[in-house]
Amino acid sequence: MKINKFNIDSLVRENIKALKPYSSARDEFVELSVDMVFLDANENPFENGVNRYPDPQQTTVKEALSKLKEIHVTQILLGNGSDEVLDLLFKAFCEPKQDNIITLPPTYGMYHVLANINNIEDKEVLLTTGFQPNVNKILKTADANSKLLFLCSPNNPTGNSFSNESIEKLLKSFNGLVVIDEAYIDFSSEKSWLERLNEFPNLVVTQTLSKAYGMAGIRLGICYASSAIITVLNKIKPPYNVNELTQQKALKRLMTKNKVQNEIDKILEQREKLFVKLKSVSFIEEIYLTDANFILVKVDDATKRYDQLIQNGIVIRNRTNQPLCENTLRLTVGTKSENIKLIKALKDIE
Ligand SMILES: *Cc1c(COP(=O)(O)O)cnc(C)c1O
Repeated sequence: MKINKFNIDSLVRENIKALKPYSSARDEFVELSVDMVFLDANENPFENGVNRYPDPQQTTVKEALSKLKEIHVTQILLGNGSDEVLDLLFKAFCEPKQDNIITLPPTYGMYHVLANINNIEDKEVLLTTGFQPNVNKILKTADANSKLLFLCSPNNPTGNSFSNESIEKLLKSFNGLVVIDEAYIDFSSEKSWLERLNEFPNLVVTQTLSKAYGMAGIRLGICYASSAIITVLNKIKPPYNVNELTQQKALKRLMTKNKVQNEIDKILEQREKLFVKLKSVSFIEEIYLTDANFILVKVDDATKRYDQLIQNGIVIRNRTNQPLCENTLRLTVGTKSENIKLIKALKDIE
């Protein structure tokens, strides 16, 4: 079976394999529990809460995540938002001007931007009209230099989850890494692929504290993968990529699981209410099923409606220029009162 043949070494760029990583002061001496005098990092010794460099391995945050997700600490890497985590995947596995990635538009725009920044070809394979991966076409498009396949599920901007059968087929047949971006998984009725992480050596799952956890401002992205993959990413990440304030805030939030779940429940309740209300707006032609905290709708004239909503003080996302998304608008589910304002504005411009 192909899975048995999977060899992480054959995917890693040669220069990354040969690289000797930067060793920071906090990497070289880690016994922080002992009452030591720290004169190793040229810090200002006067305490103000952030005068010391942060833990480069974010151990306490990872331990909290490890407990919460039942994933070993060595299988977790944290970044300055998911965007940094995704960028590290390019840097580790994609040789500029030689390798390629596969993305499935309409999807999250950062994969394509990161491919451009890293000088990597992006082989785009459109989703089907039902917004599902076109598995056969993806496998036909893939070649020996296809290193990363990005599956965003639930997908942004369409909102739906990809079928488990398609994802499993891709995991088994694609020869590079399959990156499942689960930024919206906490709003979904589908299970996270984290549960099956140890079944697939080529599976990478990314999550974030930016959406359901309500912490877009602190920038914390999470990558879960085999410890072999995490070791490679760790080697190339900037030494102090997650700052002290972010680590503290994240840890606190992860400790209040009930509060987070409570907010998710409220957002889901609002999502269902909004979904029903949108049906009564005359110029909305289609409301797509969603597993995320936003709803994609097709309207008569997306640009006109977008402008009218701006006039009414409401900012949404016009997705009309995305493939398969002509005349669509993406609406984030807000608080009850925000959603009432949205519906009122939609009615006012009918
Ligand atoms: C919002 C979003 C993210 C989050 O990115 P961060 O850098 O962690 O804020 C990642 N992926 C998708 C698909 C998103 O929509």
